Amino acid sequence: MATRNSEIVEAFEKFFQNYYDNEVKQLAQEYPNEKQSLYIDWQDLYRYDPDLADDYLSHPKHHQGYAEKALRVYDLPIDISLSQAHVRIHNLPSTESPDIGEIRSRHVNSLIRVTGTVDSIEQAQSALSEAAFECQLCGTLSRIPQSPIGGIQKPHKCQGCERSENFVVNHDQSEYVDIQTIYIEQRPPGVGTDDDREILTVKLEDDLVDEVNPGNTVNICGIVQHNADLKNSTASIPDKHIEGIAITEASRYQLDITNREKKDIIQLSSNDSIYETMVDSIAPTVYGYERMNQARSHRDYQDLDHRNTHQSGLQHPRVYLITFC
Ligand SMILES: [Zn+2]
Repeated sequence: MATRNSEIVEAFEKFFQNYYDNEVKQLAQEYPNEKQSLYIDWQDLYRYDPDLADDYLSHPKHHQGYAEKALRVYDLPIDISLSQAHVRIHNLPSTESPDIGEIRSRHVNSLIRVTGTVDSIEQAQSALSEAAFECQLCGTLSRIPQSPIGGIQKPHKCQGCERSENFVVNHDQSEYVDIQTIYIEQRPPGVGTDDDREILTVKLEDDLVDEVNPGNTVNICGIVQHNADLKNSTASIPDKHIEGIAITEASRYQLDITNREKKDIIQLSSNDSIYETMVDSIAPTVYGYERMNQARSHRDYQDLDHRNTHQSGLQHPRVYLITFC
């Protein structure tokens, strides 16, 4: 087993040499003040070694550990240790990207990607990353790495007197990391109300804390964790959360548009009364919204006009996409 583990670490070292040499060296230059993480693209790993990439999906914690070990032993041109640097994998295949409402037991402990909009964020807090347990009988300190998200791990026995009780955490000798809980939401395609939202709890740590704000649309890669403590949470998934590993910006939701709908949109865009059609299409059952809808449509028009003029040099606005709210 030890041989197998060191083979995996070596495989990651070679992967970094072939695909991420510049990025690792850049990280070393900026670590730890400006940068603490190496982002790797799952698709690159798949090109390098499909089996390793697939194993990363099913055993993400182990493989993140191997990849981070490879980072620590990486041959760097400057004398610095990337001892606490993170490897953050992103751009997972679409097969591992369930909607929030589709997350099930089979996803627990696996790596998935979800796309959603940040609904709310909690205050950042401090959590133990390495607890120094002091034996009350002989005073020996036992340092035990902690997962900031999860229960506290105690030593099995004292390294000094070999007894297995009477430990107290020595806070001065312990190390801490920032943690934060955020909630991301997905709405069903088409018309959806607040009651239709799916909300997922995401737990973040270290340099991912304070990276997003409410309203941001993001891709989050992370490990699905079962957690009975979340049962009273406002999330619509009451017993599972994601331990976030990487956050990347998602420009917009992927819209699944059929060929028929494409034809309809193109046809509508050449209609002289498209502006009036848009105004009438917004909340048509609510009386008295005409002026507000005019303003809203006008804003969408201006948006499109502005983008078209800048991107393609067009002098006259054309409507390419109609939004129905
Ligand atoms: Zn002891």
